[in-house]
Amino acid sequence: MKPAAACFVCQKVRGEIAIPGGLIYRDELVQATHLFPNRQGLVYLGYLMIEPLRHAPELADLTVEEAQAIGLLMSRLSRALKEILKAEHVYAFVLGDDVPHLHLHLVARHRGAPQQYRGVHVTEWPEAPRGGKAEIITLTARLHAFLAR
Ligand SMILES: [Zn+2]
Repeated sequence: MKPAAACFVCQKVRGEIAIPGGLIYRDELVQATHLFPNRQGLVYLGYLMIEPLRHAPELADLTVEEAQAIGLLMSRLSRALKEILKAEHVYAFVLGDDVPHLHLHLVARHRGAPQQYRGVHVTEWPEAPRGGKAEIITLTARLHAFLAR
């Protein structure tokens, strides 16, 4: 297992990496952020990451409290993506082949996404809404406000 000191998610948790738009949510157990833009400065909008603050590698490693917190946050953020982005559907993926700190991908499927772009290929749809740092900041603020109400 990669030591927590070098772990990308732990670095996010410790505030050592600037998070575009900042935190959508954080409590004592979990946090949610938007995906970072790529090298071209663009990102698929409505692609969130939910992570336990503790360096827990997989779903199987969560405490009951962490699992409850992640489940609840997944549901609330799915509702927020449907309302704010008018998402047709919201995917939840756990892949974790590269970073051994659980990070759940919560991904909006935008209206009209063709069949071939469903599932893990959803972000490959060329017409999907994309944006840069400004759009992430706006969306993050709206998601944050949704959770606070
Ligand atoms: Zn970690």
